[in-house]
Amino acid sequence: AAAAARASASSPLEALTSVWGYDAFRGEQAEIIETVSRGGDALVLMPTGGGKSLCYQIPALVREGTGVVISPLIALMHDQVDALEQLGVRAAYLNSTQSVDERRTVERQLLDGELDLLYIAPERLPAAAGLLDRARVALFAIDEAHCVAQWGHDFRPDYLRLSMLHERWPDVPRIALTATATEGTREEIVRNLDLDDARVFVSSFDRPNIQYRIAPKQDAKGQLLQIIDAEHPGEAGIVYCLSRASVERTAEWLAGRGITALPYHAGLPAETRSRNQARFLREDGVVMVATIAFGMGIDKPDVRFVAHLDLPKSIEGYYQETGRAGRDGLPSTAWLAYGLQDVVQQRRMIADGEGDAQRKRAQTLHLDAMLALCETVRCRRQQLLGYFGQASEPCGNCDTCLAPPEAFDGTVPAQKLMSTIVRLQRERGQQFGAGHLVDILLGRETERTVKLRHTELTTFGIGTELGDQEWRGVVRQLLAQGLLEVQGEYGVLALTPAAGEVLGGRREVLLRRETERTRAPRRARAK
Ligand code: ADP
Ligand code: ZN
Repeated sequence: AAAAARASASSPLEALTSVWGYDAFRGEQAEIIETVSRGGDALVLMPTGGGKSLCYQIPALVREGTGVVISPLIALMHDQVDALEQLGVRAAYLNSTQSVDERRTVERQLLDGELDLLYIAPERLPAAAGLLDRARVALFAIDEAHCVAQWGHDFRPDYLRLSMLHERWPDVPRIALTATATEGTREEIVRNLDLDDARVFVSSFDRPNIQYRIAPKQDAKGQLLQIIDAEHPGEAGIVYCLSRASVERTAEWLAGRGITALPYHAGLPAETRSRNQARFLREDGVVMVATIAFGMGIDKPDVRFVAHLDLPKSIEGYYQETGRAGRDGLPSTAWLAYGLQDVVQQRRMIADGEGDAQRKRAQTLHLDAMLALCETVRCRRQQLLGYFGQASEPCGNCDTCLAPPEAFDGTVPAQKLMSTIVRLQRERGQQFGAGHLVDILLGRETERTVKLRHTELTTFGIGTELGDQEWRGVVRQLLAQGLLEVQGEYGVLALTPAAGEVLGGRREVLLRRETERTRAPRRARAK
């Protein structure tokens, strides 16, 4: 039957050309494949779209036995196996979605030497160990290897058990792959997977065809619509939102304005999800509005833009999500809108979330790095690559390179804001969020400023040199710089110990100028 047409290959290059139909290896693929085919261990750090899969699929064909792939993406195993089967590669998977009969069939195929590749979910590995003992294993591939890092952004406890691979099958080569390259994560992968002897391959993380842009959030949907209309009409894109509710709202809103926008989040029925995903993959110009549940393993080359309407939790996440744009190498846009409310919300989510103190500290550092990227006056790409430990020059293809932001000495505005916070707290024992503080600084006689007699404060109306949006920018940047912090469930602002240096005139504050932008005009679009 189909299995008879086994994809055999005597050399990696022959596999590449005869099975995949490609002419040449990309980047470091050839060397990685050579290393693993010869029985060596490898750690591969390669950006999304870089071509990681071939790095273990080809050695699995070249070596005798079955390549066992540990992958956390159960939802994608079926598609991955389907795609391989279409190429004539004998592939199967074992995961919790299968019936006992289905599993038995796969186990028999494995033991009979009828599989080139077997995908296994990490939680199934302990149960499958006895089976693997009896099979001929060509190699172990550990996909999404950053999941083993507790310090990382995507930790999965099941991954810690993967250290058993080396202990139990010391002669089987292992290849760990990830698109996350920070030093800390890398060290943890090596340590937790016992990869000290592995050759490490680090590809450049630069995606030169992606234009990175980060804008203050005003009317995020309207801003997005303007970008789609002006730069990407009728093109495929992914729009990320934090919550399921905002996914649905945004998809509906865009659809009402003539955009083919579909929702995707884990709360939708499975059929709706797979129908929307199929449309996104097959039709032209579909905009997928999704939570981060969408995208892992999605291989669509012509995604022209990725937009974030809410602040991502980490640079790793942001990089991975924006990396889904422009896999074909053509110009693409990564656009992020973020506002003060994002910062407040994320800080609160960390505080109220699960996990011990160390976990929360890690999350806070991830968020701080993300905020620093948002508020930088440097080239975004330089900052992004620097985060992954790669030095570079200003890129000429990001918003700060194209329109350099003005940096200004924000010490005085910072002092005005801080002393307002201090006065209210010391003299009246009151704490407030940004909106009310800005009202005081701008001297607005609102119901609240009047009723609380904040009109009598000495700082009332002393901040008219800046506008409303500019003040919000100041608050955001002071939060990003660790001079202010958000407290309690209502998001009230408080000073950090470091703020004392600013108030005392011993530290200057450099800020990025926030221009007062008018709202993106709302245009009605004909269907
Ligand atoms: P990653 O897992 O690193 O995100 P993939 O393995 O999914 O990337 O590869 C991304 C795309 O590039 C896929 O469509 C793949 O078939 C293609 N690709 C990989 N290697 C090559 C190559 N040497 N030549 C041409 N296309 C390739
Ligand atoms: Zn740049």
